[in-house]
Amino acid sequence: MYDVIIIGAGLSGISAGVRLSHYGRKVRILEKQRYPGGMNGYYERAGRTIDVGLHALTNFAPEGIRGAPLNKLLRQMRLRRHELDLCPQTFSEIVFPQCSLRLNNDFAAFAAQVDKLFPTEADGFHRLCERIRQTDALSPTAPELSARAILNDYLSSSLLQDMLLCPVMLYGNPQADDMDFNQFCIIFQSVILEGFGRPRHGMKPFLECLLKRYADQGGELSLGVGVTALNVRDGRITAVVTDQGEELHADAVLSCAGVLETARLCSTPPPELAAFPAGAIGFCETIFELDCRPRALGLDACVIFRNCPERFRFSTPAGSVDLSSQIICMPGNYQQCDDIADANTVRVSVLASPAWWLDLSPDAYGKAKKNVADAQIALLEAWKPGFAGAVAGWDMFTPKTIRRFTGHVNGVIYGSPRKLRQGASADLSNLFICGADQGFLGIVGALMSGAAIANRHLL
Ligand SMILES: Cc1cc2nc3c(=O)[nH]c(=O)nc-3n(C[C@H](O)[C@H](O)[C@H](O)COP(=O)(O)OP(=O)(O)OC[C@H]3O[C@@H](n4cnc5c(N)ncnc54)[C@H](O)[C@@H]3O)c2cc1C
Repeated sequence: MYDVIIIGAGLSGISAGVRLSHYGRKVRILEKQRYPGGMNGYYERAGRTIDVGLHALTNFAPEGIRGAPLNKLLRQMRLRRHELDLCPQTFSEIVFPQCSLRLNNDFAAFAAQVDKLFPTEADGFHRLCERIRQTDALSPTAPELSARAILNDYLSSSLLQDMLLCPVMLYGNPQADDMDFNQFCIIFQSVILEGFGRPRHGMKPFLECLLKRYADQGGELSLGVGVTALNVRDGRITAVVTDQGEELHADAVLSCAGVLETARLCSTPPPELAAFPAGAIGFCETIFELDCRPRALGLDACVIFRNCPERFRFSTPAGSVDLSSQIICMPGNYQQCDDIADANTVRVSVLASPAWWLDLSPDAYGKAKKNVADAQIALLEAWKPGFAGAVAGWDMFTPKTIRRFTGHVNGVIYGSPRKLRQGASADLSNLFICGADQGFLGIVGALMSGAAIANRHLL
């Protein structure tokens, strides 16, 4: 009998485990994959460890900034900053045909560029930032508002609106076209008010550090063990059934597998949770390995949010992908990362249509991936000549990959467009949800979510 069984060793599940085991709870994490970390895990190929999705640890904040989510998290996990070996970014960029804005973990410097490039918008921009700071975006009762409408109230330049929406939507909007303003505030804080860093050698040592803390506190982790059913009786989960034929019992079950995904495991569908809408915003991410440093080709930022047309659009593509905007990440450009194993890597993410990718035959799937990689190479070659000739190899994630490895419906990264902010529902009194579907995204966001739900409901 466990106090808590956690479904999934995603970052939110792991942080909840660390928190609960610290307080002496008997906890077991069940993870169906052989590697921990979920969408921010790693895999091994030809003797090399490759991060699944690491571009940036958003919400990066220097030591000593009180109230910064990263610093709060380190305290809650009882970790010292040096244990995570975090390196700040040098700089990142939002690049539009009309102009560019630089992000370098110094919000005052970002605001000064906005003032200079958009002098008539300066007052509105500062008032918007103040509103973002004052918004209690994490409140379960915060009303859902249109981010586009609010940006339009403060800014008359559609270019500036688009330049702010571009990185924020690309790094965490689960819905097409518009964005919930609360979600906008959470991601704006993590990307623009705070900034980017990365664990120097990627997610493996980062996860090992968290899992060591968990194991030292008595937490149990079972990798390669999937949950196949949750038996429900009288509004409670009475047993957790695994693909190893075990039937496990716990006072509470916490899941980071997603709301809809968890509801589908229940022997009796929980009405509120089973009605959650599936997400439809997918991504394809290609990991290019170059035979030179990306900097040698003029790719000298850490992350580039590049929008090719004059206006930014964020919707599910009609075809396989939408190449008009790209997130381009160079891990070796972070501070002190010049000699890491990924120093020659360039990651390129573009919006993808889950429906287009999910049901392709193996043959068509292989061809579709090659077409996308070729198109991305051509796009980068036109912008940074020499790129095509420098590509030594590539690997790609699609919505099909994400669905296969994480079970997320539609293979989406940012979960359902609806969020279960309180992490609980009236459907099942001992089931709790953390992670992307609770409304927190990214590495720090997911870790915060697990800790918050553990604190709120299970301690
Ligand atoms: C390509 C890509 C790039 C990304 N880039 C970044 C980035 O640069 N920076 C950043 O901060 N974030 C990034 N993210 C997003 C970030 O990874 C996620 O927001 C975060 O990891 C979500 O964590 P989570 O705990 O919510 O769940 P997940 O990571 O989704 O974990 C859920 C876990 O549950 C397991 N599971 C599911 N069903 C079952 C079951 N039935 N039984 C047992 N286990 C189960 C899954 O295998 C998985 O391990 C990226 C994601 C991807 C895919």
